[in-house]
Amino acid sequence: MASYRRFRFHARRNRVQSSEARPDGELPLRRLVLCRDCGRDFVALIDALECDDGSRWAVMLRCGACETQRLLLVSTAELDALLNELEWNALTMEADAVHLWRERTADEIEIFVTALERDLIGTDDFGH
Ligand SMILES: [Zn+2]
Repeated sequence: MASYRRFRFHARRNRVQSSEARPDGELPLRRLVLCRDCGRDFVALIDALECDDGSRWAVMLRCGACETQRLLLVSTAELDALLNELEWNALTMEADAVHLWRERTADEIEIFVTALERDLIGTDDFGH
């Protein structure tokens, strides 16, 4: 048994990519990040345990939108694809958060400048 963290290290070290060509006859990868119940891509990996000498993984998944939990047996390629997608989603969320913060900060600065220009606030409002 190995945790998915160990798998993750292994995948990075060996540059395992989900985009690798699939041998003929294999089923296409399931997109595990999509919730089977609500259809949204809010599924997070709770835990993963190695099975069948590392060829398959038992994963516990949880949808952040509808809170449905699923226990699935997935291939190594599917787990790798899920981890890649979760990493991408995290990066996208971080970028969105920075963008939102910049917009909000710009709004606050504009309000502050307008208040200064209209003498609604002055030096007396600061310090002491
Ligand atoms: Zn859901």
